[in-house]
Formats: sequence, structure tokens, C-alpha cells
Amino acid sequence: MKDIADKTFRIVIIGSGPAGLTAALYAARADLKPLVLEGPEPGGQLTTTTDVENFPGYPEGVMGPKMMEDFREQATRFGADCRYGMVTSIEFDKRPYKLTIDEETTIFAEAVIVATGAAAKWLGLPSEQRMRGRGVTACATCDGAFFREQHVIVIGGGDSAMEESTFLTKFASKVTIVHRRDEFRASKIMQDRALNHPKIEVIWDSTIEEVLGEQVVQGVKLRNVKTGEITTLEDVTGVFLAIGHKPNTDLFKGVLDMDESGYIITKPRSTYTNMDGIFACGDAQDAIYRQAVTAAGSGCMAALDAERWLENQVDHVETGGYRLYHPGGRHIPLRSE
Ligand code: NAP
Repeated sequence: MKDIADKTFRIVIIGSGPAGLTAALYAARADLKPLVLEGPEPGGQLTTTTDVENFPGYPEGVMGPKMMEDFREQATRFGADCRYGMVTSIEFDKRPYKLTIDEETTIFAEAVIVATGAAAKWLGLPSEQRMRGRGVTACATCDGAFFREQHVIVIGGGDSAMEESTFLTKFASKVTIVHRRDEFRASKIMQDRALNHPKIEVIWDSTIEEVLGEQVVQGVKLRNVKTGEITTLEDVTGVFLAIGHKPNTDLFKGVLDMDESGYIITKPRSTYTNMDGIFACGDAQDAIYRQAVTAAGSGCMAALDAERWLENQVDHVETGGYRLYHPGGRHIPLRSE
């Protein structure tokens, strides 16, 4: 990082999942020489999955980590500089924005693309972590098809748990929802859809004690939180966590507009945030679709938005006047102003 200390970049992209690396590809092809700071999980959530079968262009499917390597290679081929590094703080009061990487190197960015993604919430059990990708997953859309004619469980009682359970009935022979309370928080309509489905059963007041199996899931041990009784479901081969996601947006709290869960709010049909020159894409701003392909699409949008915004900044500096090029964005003065 020393070689880039105090350098000013036209675009800095924070995050290296499908959104960040697609933004990098487009920004690099626009000759903006973007810097990509890859964050704690280079490649993003897909590097923790196995086969990806729903990304267009891979008719045979592709391993998640391989796909992200391909994304990275394509972006670097056009001049993106992708580096391991965590943005630890940003000064938002002057432009170019000042970013500190790994608490030691400072750089400047005329435009920032936030592609920090989101992380599925996990229970935190050692057996759950050991079996991730071996039958324990947090993405029914990605992995459901691997469980044809099998018994799977879904943990959670929100809309995601209902939606994922219903979706999983397309493949699984039986879906058991395990919920820690005796009522769901999901919307009535989604509850009804799940509860009325002949393939779906519910085990109330229960949590997972242990995921069984070594190479693949071979059952789960459940604990009834009211009685303390332990039961084992021996034929379960898939465990789907649906206990919520958390967007990785803590760095921007109090600065960028967010919803109550921390998802960054962008202007409709764009990636503009409420701050001049800061754009957001991918799962950091998408609580609804959360797919690699939608993240990649919004990464492309962010690069195009940022590119156009940067072009207009040239006008702004030359004319010396202020015009609102960032729709609805808060004007941040230039360091030279
Ligand atoms: P959520 O609403 O936060 O629900 C999380 C569920 O997981 C809750 O039932 C919670 O139990 C349970 N849970 C949390 N931590 C747990 C733990 N450690 N152990 C066991 N259970 C745990 O999350 P979500 O379902 O992902 O929904 C997030 C947002 O997206 C919501 O606003 C939702 O409406 C929206 N959404 C909408 C749709 C749709 O409209 N199609 C689909 C999916 C999501 P408790 O109930 O006991 O707290």
C-alpha cells in the first residue's frame, strides 16, 4: 500500500464481490484506473459457496471462487488495481474524499463506489461453521436444487424463512421450518403460503443444538427451548439458515442515508446516494434481490453513474460555479475551495 500513499484516484471501489468487480471492469474500460479495495473477504460472499448454477453464461455451472477469480481477472485486464485492504475510515467533509486503509495508509478519491455487500447471519455453532458448503447454507436460491427428494430444514420465522421454505418445496421431498418461538414474524400471506403447503412442517420453540455429519450433513440435533428436550432428525441432509442478513455498511452510518436495517438508500433507478460523488451498489443497498447477477448489474450502473458524474465535475471546476450534478446529493466542498 505504501506505493499509493496520498495518491488521488478518480474512482475508489470498496468491495470486491460481483458488484465491486463489475464496477471496476466498467470504470477501468472508461480509463478511470479504479482502485479496488477488496476487504476482509476478497471476492465476496460467492467465495464461500460451491457451485453457482444461476449466473448466466456458465451453462455447466461454476465454482463460486473460480467465478470471482474470473471477475477479477477481467477487471485487472483493463487496468483496475485490485488490492487486499480494509477501508478503516473515511473523511466525508471535503472532496476528494480521504480514505484510510488498514489504519495506516491514506489515499484520496474523487468518487467512491460502495460495494461492501452483506453477510448472512449465522447461528455461530461450531458444527454449523464446519459444515458450511457441505449441506449448511444461507442461500436457498443458490443451493436448493442440490437437495432434490431430500429432507431439509429452514431456520427462522421471518419472510425469508417462509419464502425459502416455499421455494425449497420445488426440490425437497420435505421441508421442516425450525423456529425459536411459537409464532412467526413473517407477513400473514407468506406464513399462510408456507403453513398450507403439504410438504412443509414446523417445529416450534426450537433451536439447533448441533449439525451432525462429517463430510455432508447427516441429521440435526434440536433443543426445545421451553422443555429442554433434545430430539434428533436423522434424515435431514440440508440446513438452510434464514435468520436475516446484515449489510456491511457500518463505515457509512450517520453519513449515507440507510434504512433501519442498514441498507444504503439510493435514488430511484440509480446508484446515487445522498452524498456528492458517493455511489452504492450490490447487496449493501439491495435487501430484496441479493443475487450475483443483480449485484453485477448494479455495479455496472454505479460505474456509469460515477463516470458521468466525474465528467460533469470537470465542468464544475472550470466554471467555478456550483451545479447539482449529483441529483439530490449533499454538496461537499472541494479541498481547494
Ligand atoms: P427477519 O425478518 O429479521 O427474520 C429473521 C428470523 O430469524 C426471525 O424469525 C428471528 O426470530 C429468527 N432469528 C434471528 N436470529 C436467530 C437466531 N440466532 N436463532 C434462531 N432464530 C433466529 O429477516 P428476514 O426474514 O431475512 O427478512 C428481512 C427483511 O426482508 C424483512 O423486512 C422482510 O419483510 C424482508 N423480506 C421480504 C420478502 C418478500 O416480501 N418477498 C422476502 C424476504 C425478506 P424471532 O422472530 O424470534 O426474532
